[in-house]
Amino acid sequence: MPKVVKSKSKANFYLKEFPNETFKSDGEILFCSCCEKAVSINHRFLVSQHISTSKHQQNRDRKKKFQQNFLNSEPPTSSNNLSAFNTDLCLMSIQEYSPTKP
Ligand SMILES: [Zn+2]
Repeated sequence: MPKVVKSKSKANFYLKEFPNETFKSDGEILFCSCCEKAVSINHRFLVSQHISTSKHQQNRDRKKKFQQNFLNSEPPTSSNNLSAFNTDLCLMSIQEYSPTKP
């Protein structure tokens, strides 16, 4: 019988628990892609501690902004309703002041 490695499911568990974070996992290691470092998954508080650090939040915000600028053709998800609203507002003003409008 194959030996079940506990940490494998643990890393995936944290991926699901923090879906809005920038974590990646190869099944064993939880890797924070915005900070470009591995996060210890031995204790849950280490993961939430990493999320609460200002450095991580700055990195994450920067990455999100970059992705929004870069992938602005992506349909908005429910998690960023506010930015979708801003985008709509922006598009509306562009249409409003467009010289091609009759
Ligand atoms: Zn991080």
